[in-house]
Amino acid sequence: MAHGDKRYDLAVIGAGPAGAAAARRARALGLSVAIIDKAVFPRHKLCGALLSGRGRTAMRDVFGLEVDPEHFLYSRKVAFKWDGETLAEFDAPHVLTYTYRLDLDHRLLTEAIAAGAEDYQGTRVTQLDDAAGVLELSDGTRLRYGVLIGADGAASPVARHLFGRAYDPAKIGFAYEVEVPGGCADDALMSIDFRVVNWGYGWNFPKRETRTIGLGAIRSVDQDLKGRMQHYLASEAGDAGEGVALKGAHIPLGDYQKVPGRGNILLAGDAAGLVDGITGEGLAYAMESGALAAETAAQVLQLGQPARATATYRKRIRYIHDELDKANRLRQFAYSDRLAGVFKEKLANSQNMRQTFFDLLDGKTTYSEVERRISKQLLAKITRKMTGWPTSLAGRLKG
Ligand SMILES: Cc1cc2nc3c(=O)[nH]c(=O)nc-3n(C[C@H](O)[C@H](O)[C@H](O)COP(=O)(O)OP(=O)(O)OC[C@H]3O[C@@H](n4cnc5c(N)ncnc54)[C@H](O)[C@@H]3O)c2cc1C
Repeated sequence: MAHGDKRYDLAVIGAGPAGAAAARRARALGLSVAIIDKAVFPRHKLCGALLSGRGRTAMRDVFGLEVDPEHFLYSRKVAFKWDGETLAEFDAPHVLTYTYRLDLDHRLLTEAIAAGAEDYQGTRVTQLDDAAGVLELSDGTRLRYGVLIGADGAASPVARHLFGRAYDPAKIGFAYEVEVPGGCADDALMSIDFRVVNWGYGWNFPKRETRTIGLGAIRSVDQDLKGRMQHYLASEAGDAGEGVALKGAHIPLGDYQKVPGRGNILLAGDAAGLVDGITGEGLAYAMESGALAAETAAQVLQLGQPARATATYRKRIRYIHDELDKANRLRQFAYSDRLAGVFKEKLANSQNMRQTFFDLLDGKTTYSEVERRISKQLLAKITRKMTGWPTSLAGRLKG
């Protein structure tokens, strides 16, 4: 499609869940929108694609889409594991839904385009002139924008443009994942292994055509992540996992951009680091933050003050930052060696902890509420000496 020099109220770089949500919400608010992605959809994105209850709410709210059996597998069956040992098998209190990003992201983007966002798939941004509010695409097209949203993932070129780097290498997470052949039916078992890796976890999710097996952790913790993945894959998949190529990708695990943009340039989703540091869940925050970034754009453009976008947006997503801070604090309980014994015992026996874990995923509770409920003794143990990051990184962290 040939596009001349054009002006848009909003340009969105990256058409994953965050970018599609930004574009869809902006169209609902009457903005003219360009959505740009280097890929042509449907495209692969490494992801467990467990869409949580919070994710389902965001998808309904922003796109008017519901989960359905054609696109999702439904199950409540869960096993908690500890380095291969099954600690407990049980039914989760809420249904869990699993899909493929190839399909999900394509559907979300299709909704945004159907709502009138102009489609620039298969093209990269080669230059960004923020003073002039102009970006140039690889085919030479120049687009003018009132507000720009960088929804371009964990390695965000927009964040690099703003801050020199997209993430702090000491705090970024890294994940390996494979699709193991062999489809699953509804009610198939999923498992989470909380000790197959340090400062992270392993997952084995049922899907209609495969099992998605992966693990993720804070990358700089000293461990052979690839070796651990090979060991985990062999124990979870046996022969079915042999010869399946490992793929890897960065995942922000609780380290977010404290200032999520600059002036009229906003960051959303992984580009802003909005992934839960305990559960690794990022789809819900991607859609929520994308929509909030679009609402911010509409507000500041209406006021004729696009430069106020970052300050306004920062306030709007403060609740996400607060939740991520609290999750980081609580993950000491899950990941520090000092509390490993208590955590293992709770995983095996505590109904209360299971309920809390799945209530969090479902959006039925928040980390703020969990902190209020948790015993003061445990919270004191967690907060007294700990930073929310592995102690081995303490000297290298800047807050
Ligand atoms: C292995 C793994 C497993 C995960 N499992 C889960 C899970 O089960 N549930 C869950 O909720 N979350 C999970 N996450 C997190 C989740 O994948 C992310 O939080 C989510 O993808 C964030 O969406 P996004 O739209 O911000 O970014 P992305 O989905 O990464 O989309 C970014 C888009 O930007 C585009 N882009 C990048 N650079 C450019 C450029 N220069 N120009 C144009 N376009 C560009 C990319 O092509 C891409 O389409 C997982 C992550 C990983 C790595």
